[in-house]
Amino acid sequence: MEVITIKTSRKTQFLDITDLVQKAIPENKSGICVVYVPHTTAGVIVNEGADPDVQRDILNIFDKLAPEDFHYYHIEGNSPGHVKSTLTGPSVVLIVEKGKLVLGTWQRIFFGEYDGPRTRKIYVKFIEG
Ligand code: ZN
Repeated sequence: MEVITIKTSRKTQFLDITDLVQKAIPENKSGICVVYVPHTTAGVIVNEGADPDVQRDILNIFDKLAPEDFHYYHIEGNSPGHVKSTLTGPSVVLIVEKGKLVLGTWQRIFFGEYDGPRTRKIYVKFIEG
C-alpha cells in the first residue's frame, strides 16, 4: 500500500490528486486501484476537472445540505464536515491498464476536505489482475 500525505489550505475544498494517485501505481501493471481516505471529515470523488466551477458548485450544494448553523448534537463543532464526508464516501475504485489510470476525458480524482486546513493521508492500494 502507498500512503500519500497532502496539506489542505482551506476549510472546505477539492484538491486534484489524480497525478499523485497515478505516481503510486506500479509501471506497466494492470488491475484495480483503491483510493481510500482514512478521515471522518474528508472524502474522495471522481468528477469533472476541466471547469473548477463544477467543484465550487458541489461544495456550495454541500453547504446547503449540511449548513454551519444547523442544530447538531455532536459538540466538536465539525458536524458539517462529518455529513459532507458521508455524502462523498471514503473511497473510489479505479481501473488501471498497463500502469495508467483509466478515466474519462473530463474525469479527475479529487480529495474532498470538509474540516481543514489539515495534513491528510490518502491510501492507495493496487491489486493486479
Ligand atoms: Zn467531530
